Amino acid sequence: MSKQRLVIIGNGMAPGRLLEHLFEAAPDAYDVTIFNAEPRVNYDRIMLSPVLSGEKTFEDIIIHGDAWYEGHGITLHRGEKVTGIDREARIVTGASGITAAYDKLVIATGSSPFIIPVPGHKLPGVLAYRDLDDVDGMLRAADRGGRAVVIGGGLLGLEAAAGLKSRGMDVTVLHLMPTLMERQLDPAAGYLLQKELESRGIEVRCGANTKAILGEREVEGVELEDGTIIDASLVVMAVGIRPAVDLAREAGLEVGRGIQTDFAMRTSDPDIFSVGECAEVDGRVYGLVAPLYQMAKVAAEHLSGVSEAAFTHAETPTKLKVTGINLYSVGDFGDGPDREDVVLRDAARGSYRRVILQDNRVIGAVLYGDVADGMWYNELLKSGEDVSKMRDTLIFGQAHQGGGVAADPLAAVANLSDDAEICGCNGICKGKIVQAINEKGLTSLGEVRAHTKASASCGTCTGLVEAVMALTLGDTFAKKAEGMCGCTDLGHGEVRRLIKAQGLKSIPAVMQELEWKSSHGCAKCRPALNYYLLSDWPGEYKDDQQSRFINERVHANIQKDGTYSVVPRMWGGMTSSDELRAIADVVDKFAIPDVKVTGGQRIDLLGVKKADLPAVWADLNAAGLVSGHAYAKGLRTVKTCVGSTWCRFGTQDSTGLGIKLEKFLWGSWTPAKVKLAVTGCPRNCAEATCKDIGVICVESGYEIVYGGAAGLHIQGTTKLGTVATEEEVIEIAAAMTQMYREQGFYLERIYKWADRVGYDTVKAAILDDLESRRAYYERFVLSQKFSQSDPWSERVSGVDKHEFKPLAVFGEDLAPATAKVEPAE
Ligand SMILES: Cc1cc2nc3c(=O)[nH]c(=O)nc-3n(C[C@H](O)[C@H](O)[C@H](O)COP(=O)(O)OP(=O)(O)OC[C@H]3O[C@@H](n4cnc5c(N)ncnc54)[C@H](O)[C@@H]3O)c2cc1C
Ligand code: SF4
Ligand code: SF4
Repeated sequence: MSKQRLVIIGNGMAPGRLLEHLFEAAPDAYDVTIFNAEPRVNYDRIMLSPVLSGEKTFEDIIIHGDAWYEGHGITLHRGEKVTGIDREARIVTGASGITAAYDKLVIATGSSPFIIPVPGHKLPGVLAYRDLDDVDGMLRAADRGGRAVVIGGGLLGLEAAAGLKSRGMDVTVLHLMPTLMERQLDPAAGYLLQKELESRGIEVRCGANTKAILGEREVEGVELEDGTIIDASLVVMAVGIRPAVDLAREAGLEVGRGIQTDFAMRTSDPDIFSVGECAEVDGRVYGLVAPLYQMAKVAAEHLSGVSEAAFTHAETPTKLKVTGINLYSVGDFGDGPDREDVVLRDAARGSYRRVILQDNRVIGAVLYGDVADGMWYNELLKSGEDVSKMRDTLIFGQAHQGGGVAADPLAAVANLSDDAEICGCNGICKGKIVQAINEKGLTSLGEVRAHTKASASCGTCTGLVEAVMALTLGDTFAKKAEGMCGCTDLGHGEVRRLIKAQGLKSIPAVMQELEWKSSHGCAKCRPALNYYLLSDWPGEYKDDQQSRFINERVHANIQKDGTYSVVPRMWGGMTSSDELRAIADVVDKFAIPDVKVTGGQRIDLLGVKKADLPAVWADLNAAGLVSGHAYAKGLRTVKTCVGSTWCRFGTQDSTGLGIKLEKFLWGSWTPAKVKLAVTGCPRNCAEATCKDIGVICVESGYEIVYGGAAGLHIQGTTKLGTVATEEEVIEIAAAMTQMYREQGFYLERIYKWADRVGYDTVKAAILDDLESRRAYYERFVLSQKFSQSDPWSERVSGVDKHEFKPLAVFGEDLAPATAKVEPAE
């Protein structure tokens, strides 16, 4: 049967989900063409706020990368706005004249942000908050500093305000109504929210009516109706959205507030569907993803031939994605004569909760501070259960029902029924997560996200999903979720995320803001924090020597007798008579007892006295030899075979490429050591298939493999892909190293990181998506700017002189018994 033609207008979250369902149900039914006014692939718009605040990058929030479109044979016209639909001829036309004929059409044009038409609203520096271009504009403004005025104290406005504040701007929020987020929060919770924002240095003016935006050539300020003038270098308008219906209206479809559809998401033309924020079903339009995803599922079922599915309205809870501010509201909380309020305030804990009852049934809930029971109230709301029996304890939450369950969040989750919705965005219930964990043997959050989509959209239910995992997996999960050390309950991932999100740039700042339980940290967390800060703030954060183990402090490996091993770098394992002569002279001069060739093709001078180290390095430096970083969590060695220069099987210059890679990659710190190898043909003499990153030269180019291990744990590498040129190999190796640098947990080797985040994720970001690869590559190059200096010559010229004075540091010379001893490789 020949395929039908499906054309989609708009490439946002709703049609993206529609296609996922469609390809699952009927993979061969349609040839798909998408027109998208935005010049990019489909991304998680919800997560723009974490991109603005620096918590995530654009690459992190891509839903479907290039490879996905290619794999499904989709034609994606990026940056091509559809300007007309000819329903007679069944053809759509884009702004540049591109046309596409359809059998079925989906209109998913989303919404347009509303801009208040006050004088000055068109000045440069006035932005909406809707897409990545808006975020880029805000980031450019934040780089210049100054004050941002955010007009609109709703969900988007407050997320923008918090993001801009964390980027270093002064921020004022103007809100017309007397309290913030009045559509989602009652005045009491709105007040608490305002207090919290003010304590973070964000100025909030409620009851503020904007009269004009001031400025000659660009924004200079905002004038309020009461005459107040506020200086501003950026104005963000977040005052609401309007469904984008013009195209549909011009095509003669029935349009109300949105494009009107039946419960199957079909418009007034039976061959045209509409999903997303632009669609109006049963008189309602929506602005949160949960109902849009339901529309997507329903439309996909009809497009694939199942015809019973129907859209049903459900209340969607609201949460604010500002780190450290917890609020949850669902349902109806307006006052009314037949309604009853139950309220609990805990001023000391900054916590407030209110449950609204009608006929002994929950019809709404507002929680601020402690929101753990939000899901439970939502469940009660959805089920319509009569709560009169628990009326006295209802407000204390689920843990206090039935008298038996302890006040324990895990117990609360355990008590939820299988039908309880855990992930509101994706409509995933507890039973479905448990079933996926059990049936598919899932053990990590990443796996649960990949298989069920739970917590994959706005991420605010991550804690709940983890609780379900902990309950289902028991100890296996508990171990994984442990804090990074006794000083904190936060895991490495959480700490890394918060360092970025909160812009923490020193170890004391991390400990203060993330509420460390110890005053100065410990030997486990300090080196990890030092690494995370170095990796996240290149050029800004200054390495803290006191947070390093002895080997990294003295740039040599301590041995069991208290002496050190010194390994000069030999690029790609090549050396020369001059270098060997210089090494021999050093060995004689300092009476170094042993000289050994390492497994990584380097020469190891063993038994050097600590006090001799600077002099040994000075002599080696004089011969052009630099540190081989045999002690570092960074690039150690690139092992090579002789390749096409000498070997009759060699297909490429493996030695030359190995040298280039080593010269490019040395310097930046990584979570754990990194070892590479380049081998001239698949005979693999340089053992590339057990390295962190390996290159196998073949006739057609270079096969790149990664994630190998050959220590206590043995693991062969996984193939990333084959490329044609040395330049691509270098770019990919650098990009992958950077991705690992940004995501890896301290001491986690590449294979463990890749196992955790998923080999497909790494491949998608580094091989398939050129834009993403380039971005990682560029961040790596930036880091190298601050990292490629030889530590030996620095010490020779006097840096950290105290480290090498004999007998000066008594405890350290006793170090063999206590220090971390690393073998040189
Ligand atoms: C900053 C921010 C934070 C948010 N946070 C949350 C949250 O926490 N929870 C939540 O549930 N929701 C949140 N939302 C809302 C959510 O992102 C949207 O509801 C959802 O993305 C809408 O999806 P959609 O597919 O309908 O439209 P969109 O994602 O808006 O996509 C529409 C696409 O169609 C394109 N388009 C429009 N007209 C044309 C045309 N004529 N031709 C071609 N292409 C066209 C547009 O360029 C756009 O790319 C947030 C939104 C923003 C902006
Ligand atoms: S890997 Fe191949 S090219 Fe390299 S030395 Fe071995 S046989 Fe020769
Ligand atoms: S850790 Fe030490 S003893 Fe063990 S294999 Fe390595 S060098 Fe040899």
